Amino acid sequence: MELAEKLEKVLYQATNPVRYIGNEWNIIKKEWDKKKIKMALAFPDLYEIGMSHLGLKILYHILNKEEDIICERTYAPWHDMENLMRSEEIPLFSLENKRPINEFDVFGFTLQYEMSYTNVLNMLDLAGLPIYAKDRGESYPLVIGGGSTIYNPEPIAPFFDLFFIGEAEAGIVNLIHRYKELKAKKLCREEILIKLNKLPGVYVPSLYLFDYSEDGKVLKTEPVCTGVKEKIKRQVISNLDQAFYPTKFLVPFMDIVHDRAVVEIARGCTRGCRFCAAGISYRPVRERSKETIIKLADEIIRNTGYEELSLSSLSTMDYSDIADLVKTLSTRYLDQKVSISLPSLRVDCFSVKLAEEVQRVRKSGLTFAPEAGTQRLRDVINKGVFEEELYDAVRAAFEAGWSTIKLYFMLGLPTETSEDIDGIVQLAHEVLNIGRKIRKNSRRKMKPIKVNVSVSTFVPKPCTPFQWVRMISKEEIEGKQQYLRNNLKKKGIAFSWNDPDLSLLEGVFARGDRRLAPVLESVWKKGSRFDGWNESFSIENWQESFSDNNIEIKEYLRRRDPGETLPWDHINMGVSKGFLQKEYDAALKGELTEDCRSAGCTGCSICFELGARLELIGGEKDEN
Ligand code: SF4
Repeated sequence: MELAEKLEKVLYQATNPVRYIGNEWNIIKKEWDKKKIKMALAFPDLYEIGMSHLGLKILYHILNKEEDIICERTYAPWHDMENLMRSEEIPLFSLENKRPINEFDVFGFTLQYEMSYTNVLNMLDLAGLPIYAKDRGESYPLVIGGGSTIYNPEPIAPFFDLFFIGEAEAGIVNLIHRYKELKAKKLCREEILIKLNKLPGVYVPSLYLFDYSEDGKVLKTEPVCTGVKEKIKRQVISNLDQAFYPTKFLVPFMDIVHDRAVVEIARGCTRGCRFCAAGISYRPVRERSKETIIKLADEIIRNTGYEELSLSSLSTMDYSDIADLVKTLSTRYLDQKVSISLPSLRVDCFSVKLAEEVQRVRKSGLTFAPEAGTQRLRDVINKGVFEEELYDAVRAAFEAGWSTIKLYFMLGLPTETSEDIDGIVQLAHEVLNIGRKIRKNSRRKMKPIKVNVSVSTFVPKPCTPFQWVRMISKEEIEGKQQYLRNNLKKKGIAFSWNDPDLSLLEGVFARGDRRLAPVLESVWKKGSRFDGWNESFSIENWQESFSDNNIEIKEYLRRRDPGETLPWDHINMGVSKGFLQKEYDAALKGELTEDCRSAGCTGCSICFELGARLELIGGEKDEN
């Protein structure tokens, strides 16, 4: 029986079968032509999460734009669908042509979250591939990975043939074409991998060896032989305005997390928050011109019928002329009733005013992220937010008619004391008081004031100024959460927090090394999948797997010595280690580093790196 036929027979039994049928508006279904190279694009989470991911939209269209490439999608099947697939012997398949993944030449994963790694293993297995790269022979698809967690790819490195480090627009098409060329020459897999490793941004983990000390530290990473580059440079596009951007978004037939038109107005952020991995890994700041943004928005709205347009960026409010852009777009789409949404607000009155302009019906709340409870700690993390600014912004929001304010904080930040945790409590109460006072004096009848306090646990991430710090223990996290629970018990305040075990595991894999791969294998074999989902997460599986492999979680959460070799030292992010160290020292002294857009270059090195590599981006040249 054909795969499509088998699917049809079982799909009605799955929750939300729409996840597995494809056929969305604007889908690209190319003829299955033997001469074309085929890539299956995988997102290791549910359809509704993957379909909302902008990076995946860009990849899908940038690859399909090429005549000789067929690019199709696949997402992680939910538990019930996995059971059906296993019992009916249905392999993992693509949504477009309903082809088994092992018929593709390349199987490429977008990796965004450490807790999706078990899904990667499960998808490899469902596709009928051996999970370890070393066990995959010539006939198997090349398994590749990219995305934001691979700035330290080591914990999952043994499962991948190669990674592409950096922005996909800067080299993915070149990589796929090169692979096609090498395959046509009938070279063996090993030879192909050696050649691909020479491409800018390509990292083939099997070509690098790790040496560990007796106490478990990484001593060094080195290429297996001469001729293999020592460091892998992150690839960055130099001109966002001229970069490809899709305008024929797939429109799904079910609710997804972000179901709207999106234009990425800028990439990168140089505000310099010291905990933020994205703030380092997307540098430098690049903007699209207003004209390009309008052109893209027009096309996307015409092609999709969406009635909401989101202006996306790490810090949308920092776009050079955001007020003018928002005004122009709101006026332009007034008749079409397309609303504009701003995904990230700064903690200031300007942001509130702009949000007020675009959100004519104030149904949703506003979110502000002071991140820490005291000025001292906000200075340590270089979060340029001052208490009065926050109160002014909140006041402006309540006066403009908002009733719900969400405040976002982290606990466990470096140098944190009990005063900093108490500062979260004080801030939340003050915001509530401000809101209530304004309501009391208002003549309008409005909803009661609500302050939602959301506190996540700080996870030290690679390639940030805090990559060396200790992550706090489970007992410490629970103690701080309990304190907040007790002290935020008040009508009008709601408190939410993260599962400490999940945060700790994220911390382990964010800064882990290759010795964690067997733990992943073992926890996946015990049945763990969708670990980021509360209903699926089993800490017992994880504890047993660490213990079966004689690995102590706390070894991976410890403080690293600044002189120590880090498992990701061979990945060159473009931002220098010296800059990160300088920022770490400044953090300990509570010194602020200004945004280089206003204060001049602060020396992170990325602009120099980018300038030096321009001729390689998208080019045919090998790096060595
Ligand atoms: S090199 Fe200088 S100007 Fe460029 S992003 Fe870094 S700090 Fe800013």
